[in-house]
Amino acid sequence: MTVTEAPTDRTTLLAGELRAAVGVERVLTERAQLRTYECDGLTNFRVTPAVVVLAESRQHVIDTVRLCSEAGVPFVARGSGTGLSGGALPSADGVLLVLSRLRTLGPVDADNARIVVEPGVINLWVTRDAAPYDLAYAPDPSSQLVCSIGGNVAENAGGAHCLKYGFTVNHVMGAEVVLPDGSVAHLGGAAPEHPGYDLLGAFIGSEGTLGVATEVTLRLVRVPESVQTMLVGFRSVEDAAATVSDIIAAGILPAAIEMMDALAIEAAEAAVRCGYPAGAVAVLVIELDGPQVEVEAQFTQVEQIAKDRHAFETRIAADAAERALMWKGRKSAFAAVGRISPAYFVQDGVIPRTKLPEVLAEMKQMADDVGLRVANVFHAGDGNLHPLVLFDDAVDGQAHVAEELAGAILDLCIDSGGSITGEHGVGQEKRHKMAKQFTEADLDTMQLVRCAFDPAGIANPGKIFPTPRLCGERPGVHTAADTHDPAIGEVF
Ligand SMILES: Cc1cc2nc3c(=O)[nH]c(=O)nc-3n(C[C@H](O)[C@H](O)[C@H](O)COP(=O)(O)OP(=O)(O)OC[C@H]3O[C@@H](n4cnc5c(N)ncnc54)[C@H](O)[C@@H]3O)c2cc1C
Repeated sequence: MTVTEAPTDRTTLLAGELRAAVGVERVLTERAQLRTYECDGLTNFRVTPAVVVLAESRQHVIDTVRLCSEAGVPFVARGSGTGLSGGALPSADGVLLVLSRLRTLGPVDADNARIVVEPGVINLWVTRDAAPYDLAYAPDPSSQLVCSIGGNVAENAGGAHCLKYGFTVNHVMGAEVVLPDGSVAHLGGAAPEHPGYDLLGAFIGSEGTLGVATEVTLRLVRVPESVQTMLVGFRSVEDAAATVSDIIAAGILPAAIEMMDALAIEAAEAAVRCGYPAGAVAVLVIELDGPQVEVEAQFTQVEQIAKDRHAFETRIAADAAERALMWKGRKSAFAAVGRISPAYFVQDGVIPRTKLPEVLAEMKQMADDVGLRVANVFHAGDGNLHPLVLFDDAVDGQAHVAEELAGAILDLCIDSGGSITGEHGVGQEKRHKMAKQFTEADLDTMQLVRCAFDPAGIANPGKIFPTPRLCGERPGVHTAADTHDPAIGEVF
């Protein structure tokens, strides 16, 4: 989907006001410049925004949101634009508010294990700054070299180590948020617990629909005394999946258990020569961390569990360089798939861990039925699947078949007792699946929360909810007037 609209009088007027408020050089309206921002990591949805604002300060964010609110013009926040669900897809008649220049990290408060950062700060920079104090920032999306903390908060980002350490929501203590009317609220704070409603919890994962984070207080974790990583090769996906369940059932909580199937291994080998076991139908990357004695004891146990499930090769990282190589294959897998297929969709769904073997088998059957291939690389410990649906966009109609298959995989996740997203968010891409995952009453309750923050419906409209709704509308009752596609600029 590609949408382009001529600027309206409303946005032309607003652009002038924005220039006066934040500076001429920070407001883009030239089509060639705007096109840079027409999509995020999900490139099959493209919308050219009417205006882009490159904020460089908290005040720029406040001014931009306030002016949008006064003009009744929608705005969409954007961090690094690596999102995979179209969350930062612009509104054609709206403002795209880019936060990537807000990149200041405060000093590390080592005694309290926390740090205050601006939203455009890159995920990996937090651990870089914390490392001299033996501290780290735990959530580690594979995109951590480029994605922003603001985007992580908005998506409640996960990562390989979230099995043990939890998602972004477990590592954010507070946030300063510019609400959709331009006022500023402080959610949570430096204290570990706060009375009243958990509005910070509601904000995290709200995908830019409740306001714009301008400052985030992050919790840091102590770097573990010992880390050990192993790479295990299996001749069947079922054995690899069963190993994951057996490890957890044995009461061991690894820092990470990641799984890749044969296609994903082939792609990673082609791209980064990670040297995974030849002939493996599936590999697990298993990492244990904690006190050395505990890690050593559990490592031996894990090796035995894998052996009992017919692992044919187990490699243990001897040093940091070997560990990095094991992770390189896993972390580069999404992009690597480009080596074995002209095009692909990254899907993100969750299933109960114990259903891994049957769901993976069913998915393979579904792909075979439509003549496509699906590569799997995922957070196996959490049951968070990332099927990569491979297709050739030069073949007429194949993109559509791939899209249908990706949607059917989400249905399979729901039917298996899981969910349509583990960490990439709903965004534009999966909003139509929300009606399958939730009841009308569930969605109406979410809408009440949204309306409390954003009664005018101008913050990232058209995302998350399957059908546009007006605030003040009687829950469950929708009118024909609300059914325009918000991607083309309707405000609801
Ligand atoms: C190769 C690759 C690997 C990935 N691996 C992972 C992974 O392992 N785990 C994972 O969770 N994700 C992963 N992702 C997805 C993506 O990196 C994450 O969703 C990330 O959190 C997005 O951050 P961003 O800065 O790019 O946000 P953007 O894409 O710019 O925006 C994402 C959403 O956040 C909103 N937003 C951005 N900044 C703010 C703000 N300051 N205030 C309010 N809302 C805001 C936007 O409106 C949008 O809805 C991966 C992506 C790629 C391309």
